[in-house]
This record gives sequence, C-alpha cells and structure tokens, in this order.
Amino acid sequence: MFSQLHRRIYHRCPELYRHKPQLPSVPGISLVVLVCTSVELLGKSRDELRALCAGLGEPAYRGDQLYHALYSKRILDFAKITNLPAAFRERLASQARVTLPEIKQRFVSTDGSIRYLFALPASEDKLSARLASVEAVFMPSEGRQTICISTQAGCAVDCQFCLTAQLGLIRNLTAGEILAQVLIPLEENKDHLAPQSNIVLMGQGEPLLNFDNVMVAVRIILDPEAIAISPKHVTLSTSGIIPGIERLAEESARPKLAVSLNASSDAQRDALMPINKKYSLGALIKACQKYPLRNWEHLTFEYVLLGGGNDSQDDARRVARLLAPLKSVKVNLIPWNPGELPYREPSNESVEAFRRILAEKNIPAFVRYSRGRDVMAACGQLALKQDNDSPLNILL
Ligand code: SF4
Repeated sequence: MFSQLHRRIYHRCPELYRHKPQLPSVPGISLVVLVCTSVELLGKSRDELRALCAGLGEPAYRGDQLYHALYSKRILDFAKITNLPAAFRERLASQARVTLPEIKQRFVSTDGSIRYLFALPASEDKLSARLASVEAVFMPSEGRQTICISTQAGCAVDCQFCLTAQLGLIRNLTAGEILAQVLIPLEENKDHLAPQSNIVLMGQGEPLLNFDNVMVAVRIILDPEAIAISPKHVTLSTSGIIPGIERLAEESARPKLAVSLNASSDAQRDALMPINKKYSLGALIKACQKYPLRNWEHLTFEYVLLGGGNDSQDDARRVARLLAPLKSVKVNLIPWNPGELPYREPSNESVEAFRRILAEKNIPAFVRYSRGRDVMAACGQLALKQDNDSPLNILL
C-alpha cells in the first residue's frame, strides 16, 4: 500500500520525486519501489499546464506556450516547440510526455473517408487501466472535413442496431485519448484541409456517460486559443442520458446536442434502445424542452430508419407528435446501413414518405446517407472491424 501511494504521488508530480527523502516513511517499510513516471500533458487544460510549469520552477506563461503548441499548432514533440528554451524542452522530455495512440490501421473508403483504428495503451490511472482499441473517422468533403470521434472503448448502452454495443463497455477514454483522435487526423491531412472542421462525438461510446473527460476535451476543442472549432461545428450525440443532458445544459462552453431517437413509441424504443426503460420518451422530451438553446441552435434528433421496423408512416406521425412541443428542432433521417445485424435497409419510398410527413408538420427533416460504408465507418458500424474481414484499402 505504502509504495503504491508513493508511486502515485510521483506519477502525478515528478518534481516531488527529487525530494523523496523528505517524504514521511513508515518504520520497517522501505521505499524500495520508487517509480518516477512522467506527467501526461495531452488532455491538460491551460491552467493545469501553467501550474505544472510553475511547479517545475518556470514562469507560468510557459504553460500558455505549451497549451498553444500542443492544441493550436499540433506540435506534439517537445523538441520542436522552439519558442521554449532548449533547457526547458530537455527537462520536459525527461519529466513529461505526450502519449499518442498507436495507429494500428487506416482504412480508406472509396468516398475518401479514412477510418483510423487506434490502440490505446494501459496506464497507471485507474480510469484507463485497460488496453483498448477505438476508432475515429476522417470524412473530407467540399469545403469542410468532419471527424467522428469515440468517447469510450465499447459501450454499455446496448442499442440493438449498433455494432459497438456488442463489445460492451471496455473503458472510458481519457481527455487526452479523445483529443488525440482530433489532433492526429488533422495533422496527418494538414496539406489538404478545407477551411472548416466539424467534430462529431458519435463514434464508440455514450459521451454523457464519460462526462468529465469528454467536457475537458470539448473545452479544448472549442477554445479559440486551442483547437479552435466553433461550437456551431461540434456535435455531441447522446442516446438520451437525461442527467447528462441536464449537466451539459449548465456548461458555458458546450457543443451542439443531438439526441438519438430511433423510435416513435416507448414500446418500440424499449426494444431498440433498452436505455429507454430508464429514461422514457416522455421524460426525454421534457428534458429537451428545458435544454437552453442558443439563438443559432437547433436540437437535432437522429432517427435510424430500419426497414419494416420503425419506418412506417404511422411512425412518422407519432414522431411528429412527440416533437411538437419542442422549439427549433430538426431531424436527421439515417437509412440503415446493411451490416451484420438482422435489419433491412428502408425503401426509398418509405424514407421519402417519412421525411414528407415530418416536413408537413413543420419539422425540418433531412436524409443523411452515412459516409464510409465500405470501411464499416458508417453510423452504428464502429465495432473494430479488422483487416481480414473488410473489403478495404489499407494504408500503413
Ligand atoms: Fe452506445 Fe451509441 Fe451504440 Fe447506442 S448507438 S450502443 S449509445 S455507441
């Protein structure tokens, strides 16, 4: 126990390690295991980096320089942060680290999307103690690129139409692991980036069940002095975790909110998304009514259309009634992507009829065809499909 405690202290504060003889000791127990692991910087806020620099005997503004270099310039190698003094860079290299996930594979779709399969290391941190793999998808298009990122490895929510659900929850991602999924694709594709980047938290995991780490990452994504993506272009998608929606409403810097609806009645949603038994449609709509929208903002509802399952005209009418109490909503209709699960693609006619019924009730509805279908990067398909069983071009 004692050595574990000290190991943890040194892990968090390498500077303290230098002064280890001053730490209290317990008679009869010697400090045999003294591991000086370095401090992880990726995921640290500006204030944390300032405090860390001050703790290392440097002016606190060095923390601002680090913050800018890591998140705005995407310089992830200390040796290349040339506005820091060489001696400090060397000290950082010995006492701090930036851990990037290993890119196990890149799957390139015929539509230009790149699906990244990342291996995440285990760490001493209890929250990230398990090895895991996650995916992110980079989707270029005219004038913009969209990066879909994961917030958990696997997912506990168990939506029946989602391949990720089959993994179960492996673990939460740290803020640094979430940020790396943005920084790596941006940096790798920097020579042909479009002016606008969109980030969607719609990969593996339920973001609101990893709230604290997600919000640390989101604040850095939104900060104009860090990754600098406007809140208009960052969307967090939830299966309807009401306490998380209520917490998000209190955040001063927050992304747009999208709610994964996918059903027109409680019975249907209970069967498709068992989380509905805990947070029913009625309670979810009430939470959405209270959610404070900014004057430019819509609340988005996503509706995966499952052929013969939830895509009838009666379903469309029920959805219109459900959403009627809400202001400023829009619906994204996502025709089911054929995969390994026992659902059918909806017909073009049912998709169009569904859209028209919503539009007639003054609910804007848009049909969204998922990108990256051929590399299993489309909605509900992120589940670690690997090289042997995917018809892919693999870039190494
Ligand atoms: Fe989890 Fe989202 Fe899949 Fe539902 S759809 S199981 S919330 S990853």
